[in-house]
Amino acid sequence: MRRASLVAAGVAAVWLSAWVQAQGIDYAKIEILTEKIAPNLYMLSGSGGADPGHQDAAGGRIGVLAGPDGIFMVDAQYSQITDKVVAAIRKISAEPIRFLVNTHVHIDHTGGDANFVKMGAVLFAREELREEMERAPVAVSGNLDAARDMLRLRLPAITYGMGDPVKFRMNGEVVDLIPVRAAHTGGDTMIRFENADVIMIGDFYRNYGYPFIDTNNGGTLKGALDALELTMKVAGPNTRLVPGHGTVINRTDIVPYRDMILGVEAKVRQMIVEGKSLQDVLAAKVTAPYDAKVPGGLLPAGTGTSADRFVGMVYSQLKGK
Ligand SMILES: [Zn+2]
Repeated sequence: MRRASLVAAGVAAVWLSAWVQAQGIDYAKIEILTEKIAPNLYMLSGSGGADPGHQDAAGGRIGVLAGPDGIFMVDAQYSQITDKVVAAIRKISAEPIRFLVNTHVHIDHTGGDANFVKMGAVLFAREELREEMERAPVAVSGNLDAARDMLRLRLPAITYGMGDPVKFRMNGEVVDLIPVRAAHTGGDTMIRFENADVIMIGDFYRNYGYPFIDTNNGGTLKGALDALELTMKVAGPNTRLVPGHGTVINRTDIVPYRDMILGVEAKVRQMIVEGKSLQDVLAAKVTAPYDAKVPGGLLPAGTGTSADRFVGMVYSQLKGK
C-alpha cells in the first residue's frame, strides 16, 4: 500500500478503493440522473450500462433533501464520480451540504464520503458501519497528503446504535435514521422522510437480481427477514420505499419478495436435512420458480450468478457458518 502510494505520488487525482472493489466500471460514462419525488426531496441515480455489477443504474441511489437549512444527503456513490454528483446537487440547490448519512458500508454508497466531508458535510452512520469501514483494507493512490486526508475523513464522525431513531429537523422535514438489526450488512440504516412519506431502505431489498446479504460484513438472513417485517410495519399504505438499487416500491411489494426468500430457504433447509452439499443445492436450481420474475437474477454476481450467490448465502446461514 505504501509503495503504491509512493509510486503514484505527485498524481493530482486521489481515489480510494475498498474491499468490495467494483470491477470494470466505466466512470467516465456514468451520468447522474435526478428525480424529484417530493417538493424538496430528490433521488439521484447513475445511468445504466456503465457498471457491470449494477447494469440498470450505476452505483447506489443518493437522496438529497434541500432547502434554506442546507442540504441533507443520503449516501455518496463512488468517489470517482463525486464531481458529477456535486454538479447534479448544485442544479437543485446552492446551499451547503451539511449532513451525510450512509445506509450501509458498501463502496457504491460510501465511496464518495470523504469528498463530501472535505466539502464540510458531517458524516453520520451506525457504529457497526464505522467498524466495518475501519476493518476494510484500503488502497490509496495520488498525492500522499491528500490520500492521508481522505483516509481520515472517510470515517463517520458521529455514530449511533440500535436505539431510538436519530432525528433531523430541517427544511420543514422530519428525518428519522432508523437502525436495522444486521440485515444486508451489520450496520444498515433506513432513512425516513416523514412529511414526504418516503423511506430510503438501502439494500436489504432489491428488485434487480436476487437478495444480497453480505455476511462478511455482518449481514444475516434472519436480520434481512426482520428488516422486511420492520419496513412493512413502519411504512404506511402510500409510503414510497426507495431501495439503493432498482425501482421505487410500496410495502405490498415486499410480500412476494419475502415469500420468495422464505420459499428458497425452505427448499435449501430440506436439502440440508437430506444431507445435500452446497454443490448439490446449487445444481438443483432452487430459484427456478422465481427466475422469470427477478430481472438480473441470472446475471453474474460474485463468482457465479446472483441466484447462486443468494442460494449459497442461504445455505451457509442455515448451516450456521
Ligand atoms: Zn450494498
